[in-house]
Order: sequence, then structure tokens, then C-alpha cells
Amino acid sequence: MAWLCSSTTNSGLVANLLGAHIIAHERVAAAMRAVDRAHFSPHSPYEDAPQYIGYGATISAPHMHGYALEHLEEFLRPGMRALDVGSGSGYLTACMAAMVGADGCVIGIDHIPELVEGSRVALERHYPGWVESKRVQVVVGDGRRGYADGAPYDCIHVGAASPGVPEALLAQLKAPGRMFVPVGTAFQEIIVYNKDSSGHVTERSAMGVRYVPLTDPEKQRDD
Ligand code: SAH
Repeated sequence: MAWLCSSTTNSGLVANLLGAHIIAHERVAAAMRAVDRAHFSPHSPYEDAPQYIGYGATISAPHMHGYALEHLEEFLRPGMRALDVGSGSGYLTACMAAMVGADGCVIGIDHIPELVEGSRVALERHYPGWVESKRVQVVVGDGRRGYADGAPYDCIHVGAASPGVPEALLAQLKAPGRMFVPVGTAFQEIIVYNKDSSGHVTERSAMGVRYVPLTDPEKQRDD
């Protein structure tokens, strides 16, 4: 079931997210206005629901993308570096790139090559120069291991559930840095990890959720 009234435009969707207090920062709203969800979602882009994008994957619901950007806002300031694990459609990766600006860098990693290619095509078509300048990059790989070549990151978003504490990803966070990740198997919650400037990590649960798991490509395609 959708959380918000559906909208017929991207700006209407963002207005609904603001009205429901799912997002509050103007920078988050501006990024979600700048990145049209229709460029990444093949069906009903302005409905507050996940949509199937093939290969056992979905583009998450707009309210979950909104929550993620809100929680990570301080670590998506201009010039910062971010990693989006399970980047799928590339929508959130693009929103993060909108927030870090031309001097920042966002890497999206997904283990399904067809999804990475689809996201690259959408990014190149709709956000000219972003891929070329490496403001945004999308790569194929096992996101459970993070992406060491681009580390350390000011923030990490994880778009699929980790069964336990994602140690490899925590190791790739800067100090200070923040990670937004669904953790759990049958029961999952969003855990927000904060690494302070001395490297000490604390965590808090933000909400209960249901995400697809971080898994192996063969298992995902068979499901
Ligand atoms: N955040 C994306 C996709 C969410 S669906 C969006 O909103 O469009 C979860 C994504 O995680 C899928 O695209 C899936 O292919 C990816 N995924 C699952 N396990 C993975 C792994 N081990 N490494 C990288 N990506 C993975």
C-alpha cells in the first residue's frame, strides 16, 4: 500500500513527501526535484510504491529514498564522497550526486550488470556530463565488500538488507561518516551507523522495513 497520495508529476511527488514530513531539508527536496523518478522507474514513477525493474530487483518506494537522503544529508554536502550499495535503477545514486554537486563523487555498485548498464544509460541521457566528469559512477561488483577503490566515503547508503553488521562497509566509512543500511533477515530495521572523528562507531535503529537481501546474483535471478 502506498503511504502518500499519488501524484502525476515529479514535483507533486516531492511536495507530498514534504507535506508528510518524510523529507524536510530543502537540499533534499531540491535534489529530488532535480532528478525525475520517471527517468529510472519504468512504471508508475510518481506513486509512493516500489516498482519492479527486472532481474529480481525493485526501485525502492519514494518515501524510503526520502528517508535515506534525510538521514544522510549532513554527509552529502557539496564536495563529499558517497557509496550507494545495490544501486539498481540508479535513481538514488543520481539524487546523491545532485546533493554532492560538481566537486563531489558518488559511486553506485550493483551485482547485476544489466541494471548497472541501464542506470548508466539513464544517467548519461538525462544528466549530461555527470558520468563523464565522474561526479557519478556506476560499477558492477559485490557490494557486500563495498568498493575499496573509491574509499573512504563520507556516507554509504545500502539498498538491500545485510544479514548482520556490515563490517566491510563500516571499514570504508570516513571518520566522521554515516551509513544507512537495512539489517536483518526475516525482521529488518534500518540501522544508522555514525562513525565519529576518532573512529568510534555508534548505531541506532531508525525504523522497521522490508528490503530484498544482499545476495548472490544467481540467487537473486532465480527468486
Ligand atoms: N536502491 C535501488 C535498488 C534497490 S533493490 C533503487 O532504488 O533503484 C536492491 C538492489 O540491490 C538490487 O538492484 C540488487 O541487484 C542489488 N543487490 C543485491 N545483492 C547485491 C550484492 N551482493 N552486491 C551488489 N548489489 C546487490
